[in-house]
Amino acid sequence: MKFLAAFAALAFASAAQAAVPAEWTAPQAPFRIIGNTYYVGTKDLAVYLIASPKGDVLIDGALVQTVPQIEKNIAALGFKLSGIKLILNTHAHYDHAAGLAQLKKDTGARFDASAGDKPILEAGAISFGPTANVHYPPVTVDHVVKDGETVSAGDVHLTAHLTPGHTPGCTSWTWNETESGKTYRVIDICSVSVAGNPLVNNKAYPRIVEDYRASIAKLKAMHADVFLAPHAGFYDPQGKEAARKAGRPNPFVDSAALQNFMAKAEAAFDKELARQQAGEKP
Ligand SMILES: [Zn+2]
Repeated sequence: MKFLAAFAALAFASAAQAAVPAEWTAPQAPFRIIGNTYYVGTKDLAVYLIASPKGDVLIDGALVQTVPQIEKNIAALGFKLSGIKLILNTHAHYDHAAGLAQLKKDTGARFDASAGDKPILEAGAISFGPTANVHYPPVTVDHVVKDGETVSAGDVHLTAHLTPGHTPGCTSWTWNETESGKTYRVIDICSVSVAGNPLVNNKAYPRIVEDYRASIAKLKAMHADVFLAPHAGFYDPQGKEAARKAGRPNPFVDSAALQNFMAKAEAAFDKELARQQAGEKP
């Protein structure tokens, strides 16, 4: 058992010590996106708080070492950690999942995730791709969400859309926000980037290409008024926040953003698949 404990300590250290891009840990002042949806992540690692009087929801956990930043951002907006009743995840890569265990402990919230990512989250490790050697603190899944299922905390209701490929249980989330008397559909897409995943002869995930294709088709067919993603680099929330002007339309409202993003993502996927099929390394 001693060996196991030592191994566990070593494994946990690896997530915190993995060399990460500076913008993943750079602090970011929190801000409101639309309605009761707020950005509380780091400069590039998005974490979203969706607030309601009877319970708040948090999506994604960023890194172990950025948990204090996320908690500080939540407090700076005037919300309490104990008000967070539900935590969700886009996908089980460590840059979005390593902080979840600590955030779950500090908030006492329920944690819901998909069946496809549950074993990864509960092991704190994925068995393929560029982050296969990075271990992070495992987090227990309290409820397994199904495709199309709506989960709630207080007055916040989010629908899970399983969009596997980037990870086997990659989950995109949609919910409604109201602002100035209008209702907007918000989407936080799970990533559909290849990001070093092996697409050819992936023994850990043989269906990976079919899953990517189906998820790309599914997301292309969806409608959203507000497009959010797990990395700020996917949609420049800081630029939109800077462009916000009183009395003007909210720059986060852009009903073409999802389709524009998906067209680029699909082209990038096709290109990378062709490259790997030609024998190039992921
Ligand atoms: Zn990822």
